[in-house]
Amino acid sequence: MLGHVGIEAVLEQLKIKAMKMGFEFNIMVVGQSGLGKSTMVNTLFKSKMWKSTLPGLGVPMPQTLQLQSVTHIIEENGVKLKLTVTDTPGFGDQINNDKCLRPLDIEFLQRLCRTVNVVPVIARADSLTIEEREAFRRRIQHDLRAHCIEVYPQKCFDEDINDRILNSKIRDRIPFAVVGADQEHLVNGRCVLGRKTKWGIIEVENMAHCEFPLLRDLLIRSHLQDLKDITHNVHYENYRVFRLNQSHA
Ligand code: GDP
Ligand code: MG
Repeated sequence: MLGHVGIEAVLEQLKIKAMKMGFEFNIMVVGQSGLGKSTMVNTLFKSKMWKSTLPGLGVPMPQTLQLQSVTHIIEENGVKLKLTVTDTPGFGDQINNDKCLRPLDIEFLQRLCRTVNVVPVIARADSLTIEEREAFRRRIQHDLRAHCIEVYPQKCFDEDINDRILNSKIRDRIPFAVVGADQEHLVNGRCVLGRKTKWGIIEVENMAHCEFPLLRDLLIRSHLQDLKDITHNVHYENYRVFRLNQSHA
């Protein structure tokens, strides 16, 4: 009997509708000043996937003093993705937090995780040795667990065994150790995004150099719809209920 329901036809309609409407996705980058947030925003937009469709973004970024959103419409196979990335001024810069940065980070992350999906990264990973990256990653994973900070992808939203297998691999690699760069260089005849040093070029899209490709794939390839669904069904719903309760109180 199932054949009569016409599920195939519904799926086809959903696909056509999604292709017509395109996708929208918003990302906000937060963290201390000088960590490389603005550079990372540029890196995301300039990364290989849609390099050819974007106008030049070669202007150097001034220090970010206010919230600043940049939107680009990225088109792939006729489907549009409207990607908006919001860059923020340094978090916690205004307070003297020489000795209390860790508690500030923890408090901030605890609140943030209840409001949005949080994907932590280790910025400027080129300044750490391989061992330091790994040790730092483990320490952050431990701290997140110890303080019950549930970053994305949250365990409680794994829907089946496949989600669990895929997401536990991601959870094991988070926070990704990333490098940002908005300059292109010629390496073996290829044009690559990277940071030029005296020792060679650190390529942001080379997995042997850093984990930027994992971050990009998670955000705008493999988990884009899931990130939006959780934002809408969980975070926004919590906010809506909170505001409704407030207005009734
Ligand atoms: P923001 O204050 O967090 O927005 O940081 P910016 O993006 O303005 O970067 C601050 C400085 O760090 C600039 O000189 C960047 O060139 C540099 N920078 C950004 N990303 C990286 C990175 O991945 N590695 C290194 N070594 N430097 C970086
Ligand atoms: Mg900035």
